[in-house]
Amino acid sequence: MGQPSVKVRIENLQPTASLLAEQVEAKLKVRYAVVLLLAVCLSMAAIACWEAWNSRQYHLHDKEVAMSNLAQTLAAQAQSTVKQADTLLFSLVDRLENDGMDPAQIPRLQRLLSAQRQELTQLHGLFIFDENGHWLANSNGANVPDANNSDREYFIFHRDHPDRGPHIGPSIKSRSTNEWIMTVSRRLNHPDGRFAGTAVATIYLSHFLSLYDSIDMGQNGAINLMADNGTIIVRRPFRETDIGTSVASGPLFTQLLPHASFGTATIKSVVDGVERVLGYRRVNGYPMVVSAALNKEEVLEAWRQESLNTAAIVALLLSFLGALGYRLIRVMRQQNHIQSELLGAQEKLLEVNRSLELLALEDALTGLANRRQFDLFMVAEMGRARRSQTGLALLMIDVDHFKLFNDHYGHVAGDVCLRQISAIISENIKRPGDLAVRYGGEEFAVVLPGTDYVGAFLVAEKIRRAVQLAGMEHSESTEGMVTVSLGVCAYDPASQAGADDLVSAADKALYVAKASGRNMSVIAN
Ligand code: GH3
Ligand code: MG
Ligand code: MG
Repeated sequence: MGQPSVKVRIENLQPTASLLAEQVEAKLKVRYAVVLLLAVCLSMAAIACWEAWNSRQYHLHDKEVAMSNLAQTLAAQAQSTVKQADTLLFSLVDRLENDGMDPAQIPRLQRLLSAQRQELTQLHGLFIFDENGHWLANSNGANVPDANNSDREYFIFHRDHPDRGPHIGPSIKSRSTNEWIMTVSRRLNHPDGRFAGTAVATIYLSHFLSLYDSIDMGQNGAINLMADNGTIIVRRPFRETDIGTSVASGPLFTQLLPHASFGTATIKSVVDGVERVLGYRRVNGYPMVVSAALNKEEVLEAWRQESLNTAAIVALLLSFLGALGYRLIRVMRQQNHIQSELLGAQEKLLEVNRSLELLALEDALTGLANRRQFDLFMVAEMGRARRSQTGLALLMIDVDHFKLFNDHYGHVAGDVCLRQISAIISENIKRPGDLAVRYGGEEFAVVLPGTDYVGAFLVAEKIRRAVQLAGMEHSESTEGMVTVSLGVCAYDPASQAGADDLVSAADKALYVAKASGRNMSVIAN
């Protein structure tokens, strides 16, 4: 049997495409939401880390700049302190070399030294030693006839070096006052250039320390004034054992100073092993270096606190965002679930609908199209035939003497017979567009789109013969077996005829067939 368009329409009923598309889109949306949430959270975390790193660098750099500035200030202070003392030494040396060191001059020299020392508070004393290290004169007015300073570093240095420039010696404890002092010295020469002794100015280390201690360097900061050979002249925090030790092997002297007279760095101290952010600078005109350094851990402590606060805020925001996102995704998933349940329900509903529709269009006993489907089909096919100017034929089929069959064999056998005849009709119409119908009782109809009289008559005869050949016993019929009569009519698309006209024409032809002895096909005229 062919596939009628009405049936096709019903069987093709599917869940609406838009609902399916919506479901796919909804699933995609959930995925996008998850990706978006992850991306936002990761970006926030990355930005926070980046910020923290930048802030760390900024903190270190900021302190490096501060230490560099401080080193510059302290270098200037060291330079002016030493220069003041050295200026005195310079004029003293000049005077001694020009006027000679006659013992008669000593009391006058002593007074001069004493007066000059009063001028500078940082000065511990001014001393003049002869070529053997004996005290010639000093600013304290002390007369120490046996004292000999030929063992002091500055004395040995000047004795062995013809340089006329100032010399900064290692810091020492004064023999006269037992205080920590640094020495600035110059060589005295005889007129012939031979070594004639040294002039020494001693400066209180406390002069430097009082300044260094007044600067806020944190718990573990350090300030160093060093000779340019790496010997510590004075250091804050002050420890006697540090004075005079050498830091020449440290990175400041091995790596930094060979390349630049000033700068900044983060290095480990040779003295106490603490890593510090350091600014350093050579003292202008004198062989000294100043460094100021803050403990790196202390510098980073403020940063750490700041970063912890930021991290806490970011974590709070992230968890808020995460919770919000999680809820949103859950709601979206629930919606999807509901939607897919709805889709399932719709599918079931459509399935039921399909069955109902088929029930409404099918004959329950034979499975052929029913009268309702016949009416719809005829309207559709006649319209199509009119539009395309093609033919359409209708067969009306009636079982002969069926009342007698029922009466003789019973109603159940009658039903079986009707089903058999339905099967024979279906088997004998092969075109997909054809429709076999149980028109009512023991009457059938066959609609043959695109078929003319001749074709329709051939189909009618085929059915009639097939029923006869089936050989269903009918003792009450003159033929002795079940037969059918058929009325054939064809539709002229040019005519104004309707479906009813066609049915009635076929009916008339059928009547003629009955009247003419049954078991025959008759074409309507
Ligand atoms: P004719 O050759 O002139 O068509 O005679 P007929 O007896 O077939 O015609 P009639 O219209 O007098 O009888 C039709 C009978 O078909 C009446 C009824 O008993 C039988 N019939 C109609 N519908 C059914 C059905 O669904 N099942 C069965 N078993 N019989 C049916
Ligand atoms: Mg009948
Ligand atoms: Mg009949």
